[in-house]
Amino acid sequence: MPHRHPAPVSRRHFLGQLSIGASAALALGSDVHGQAPAAPRKLGVVLAGLGNYAKGELLPALKETQFCRLAGVVTGSAEKGQAWAREHGFPEKNVWHYDTMAQMATASDVDIVYVVTPNALHAENTIRAAAAGKHVVCEKPMAVSVAECDTMIAACRKAGRSLSIGYRLHYDPYHQELIRLARTQEYGPFLKMTGGFGFHMARKVWRAEHKLAGGGPMMDVGIYAVHEACLAANANPIAVTAKERPKTRPEFFVDVEETLDWTMEFANGAKAELFTSYQENLNQFRAEAAKGWYEVGPPAFSYRGLKAATSTRGALQFPPLRQQAAHLDAIARSIIDRTELPTPGALGRRDMVIIEGVYEAARTGKRVTLRW
Ligand code: NAD
Repeated sequence: MPHRHPAPVSRRHFLGQLSIGASAALALGSDVHGQAPAAPRKLGVVLAGLGNYAKGELLPALKETQFCRLAGVVTGSAEKGQAWAREHGFPEKNVWHYDTMAQMATASDVDIVYVVTPNALHAENTIRAAAAGKHVVCEKPMAVSVAECDTMIAACRKAGRSLSIGYRLHYDPYHQELIRLARTQEYGPFLKMTGGFGFHMARKVWRAEHKLAGGGPMMDVGIYAVHEACLAANANPIAVTAKERPKTRPEFFVDVEETLDWTMEFANGAKAELFTSYQENLNQFRAEAAKGWYEVGPPAFSYRGLKAATSTRGALQFPPLRQQAAHLDAIARSIIDRTELPTPGALGRRDMVIIEGVYEAARTGKRVTLRW
């Protein structure tokens, strides 16, 4: 699979990812003194957090990957971990508690820890995994603040390990087509972007609590629209404005937003007008340029069944693909081949800078300038 480079990130944070080569050599047991690396083997992946996404999507994806295998779990329940070991064929010694992750350091059959816990726990789990000498894949949002992202990047850099973010859409063909159109400028630069991601949250879960989620739908699903707008613009935004809509269920969304509209402005005059909600459904993205448009969705951001159309080619159909398997394999390949990571921590940090800006704009009512 060819490597597509992510949208621009700041030079300083890109440089922060450059210790990966040496760590990959260690992970693969290859000769760090310059001899040819050992033949690629499947990298051992530990899932940290056995909730819905780990069980429903990452577990089946791991079974489809070419370059990864499930090697263990981190869980608060030893019994659950042992059951996973028996059912999915990894040794029972590879069941850790969040507090015993340091012991992973001696597990030579583990290369990567995939952090799939609630958002506010991503930083501590990433830092523990890196300190145990493992590469890290961390789910989106990378963390709940830019400051946390910085500590995560620093911890992985210090440990000489890579840090990737679970942006599964990077390898989805419907999104690769957007990336291609943004880069080739077949229709000219995309100057007007619209859309967003929202759904009706029926049952209160940690996602609606600031303490564990760090925010409301923006942190959870709005981030997809933030990321997509950057891909379409092929740039980072220079400023944001935002407005929170009045809550229709204030007792439900006590300390997080329920619905948010925001605008991202880019240096070339492009604008993205976006939406996220835990009240209303939307799952769509449209990018318009002088000579044409591209529209993904509905659904645009789901795991499967995506749709897209362009102004010149009508409806597009790509073969089905398990996004998480393609993404995990791309990350593993970049570790094995010592090439640039497809979705590095710097990209997760970039999105967190934008999200913090959006929250500040919503709180103050002012246009917030973003500095890179
Ligand atoms: P979930 O609630 O189903 O699972 C969370 C897991 O974390 C559970 O196993 C829970 O036991 C564990 N956990 C550990 N410490 C905890 C604590 N102190 N409080 C609560 N739970 C704790 O959530 P999920 O849907 O699997 O989401 C997990 C992460 O994955 C989130 O960051 C989410 O944004 C991300 N996610 C990403 C995608 C994607 O498409 N990339 C999809 C779903 C979820």
